[in-house]
Amino acid sequence: MDIIDIRLGTGLDHWSCKLSGDGSYSVSCLRKIVDVSQVYIPETSVILWCKVVPIKVTCFIWRAVQARIPTTVALDKRGIAVNSLLCCSCIGAVECSEHVLMNCPFATMIRNNILGWCGLSHVQDSLKNSYDLLQLAGTRWNFKKKKERLVAICYGLLWNLWRFKNKRLFQMEGTSPSYGIDCIKSMVFYWLKHRNKNSICNWEEWLISPFSDL
Ligand SMILES: [Zn+2]
Repeated sequence: MDIIDIRLGTGLDHWSCKLSGDGSYSVSCLRKIVDVSQVYIPETSVILWCKVVPIKVTCFIWRAVQARIPTTVALDKRGIAVNSLLCCSCIGAVECSEHVLMNCPFATMIRNNILGWCGLSHVQDSLKNSYDLLQLAGTRWNFKKKKERLVAICYGLLWNLWRFKNKRLFQMEGTSPSYGIDCIKSMVFYWLKHRNKNSICNWEEWLISPFSDL
């Protein structure tokens, strides 16, 4: 429609949502439209809702598993000038999301330690990508509290690996694996203690096993 064809009516301006019959907007109304439309959902799209995990972390992981985070490889593809495509940690491979979160030796070392702490050392070799890790977190245990903790730990692991990478790249500050592991354990402990109404074991017990009290 050309602007010349627009006729202004009388009365005050107001917004009207075309999704609902009465012109008001609601999330459920939008959800119905999404559900019936042919929206492409990638196979790797996985989201494990866990209320102790901050929403920004959940959203980050959802994008990361689909390689939709601003790594240097992704930025380069969009035409943004980057100094180097190589991982700033190992300088042994290009910095794509799977490398930062899973395949970098730094990430592998931290993940294996965290999995060992969770009593899951035996699954280390079966994890090929971040999707596998989230699948493990979502299906390993049926017991709700235990599952929630493992999901929070896996999200805390991936989120912190991204933070460490950014710290190294933008603040020239390296993180040692042992310090990184401590950061992940303390951040997830904080989430569980302060973002959850259920009680949790004390810090000393937590350091021995995250499932000490379950
Ligand atoms: Zn690397």
